[in-house]
Amino acid sequence: MSNRAHGTAGRYTEDDCRCDECTDANTERVYASKQKRAGRVPAVHNASTYRNWGCDCDKCIQANRDLLARQQAAAGRGVNSRKEWTDKELELVLRRKDSRRYEHTALEVALKLGRSVAAVNAKRSRGRVIKPATLAAPRRN
Ligand SMILES: [Zn+2]
Ligand SMILES: [Zn+2]
Repeated sequence: MSNRAHGTAGRYTEDDCRCDECTDANTERVYASKQKRAGRVPAVHNASTYRNWGCDCDKCIQANRDLLARQQAAAGRGVNSRKEWTDKELELVLRRKDSRRYEHTALEVALKLGRSVAAVNAKRSRGRVIKPATLAAPRRN
């Protein structure tokens, strides 16, 4: 049995899956590698650009991370999900780089703590509520 998810070129080429999702993924991969050889740059930057083109711009890296986070959350991983959160864990979840960004992505924290991304995000949205007003970033727009 293969562990590859449907919708990946690897599943198409190595596991000979010909479902629509895998066929599409393979078509996209073949197209991307042709374009790449021709020296063309990708028109869109998203998770498949990252995977198929090897583009490592910020946008692609972030999109790929988001995709992984969604997949992980969908898979419902979180071995410690029933355990109470410790202060140390919460501190890691809520630690900020600055007023707008967290020190770690939800996925990084989730993997580190063995919890689901959804659980981390839930703690963050709660943390935002109790955050002192003085720390809130001013909103412009
Ligand atoms: Zn498939
Ligand atoms: Zn890119």
